[in-house]
Amino acid sequence: MIKKNPVLRRCISCRKTYDRKNLLKITKDHKQGIILQKGIGRSAYICKSKACYSDSKIKKKLQKALKTFLEPEFIDIFEKEIASSNNYPN
Ligand SMILES: [Zn+2]
Repeated sequence: MIKKNPVLRRCISCRKTYDRKNLLKITKDHKQGIILQKGIGRSAYICKSKACYSDSKIKKKLQKALKTFLEPEFIDIFEKEIASSNNYPN
């Protein structure tokens, strides 16, 4: 019998682990730069709890996790993405 385990990833803000499906993935893609939910490269995950994505330090934490500089526009895109994918069970 094969037991199916969810893929767990850690939120860079609250450091709790969640099923990857419930996290927003931010990737520094080799070709496309910073993209959400797809891409290949260094990735960071943020859970969809308001305390995390609306944290005033989230941009800093992301920059540190991805080892890159994030444009201010990125935060707007990021917030829209969170709002549109706000089907988190909680
Ligand atoms: Zn979190």
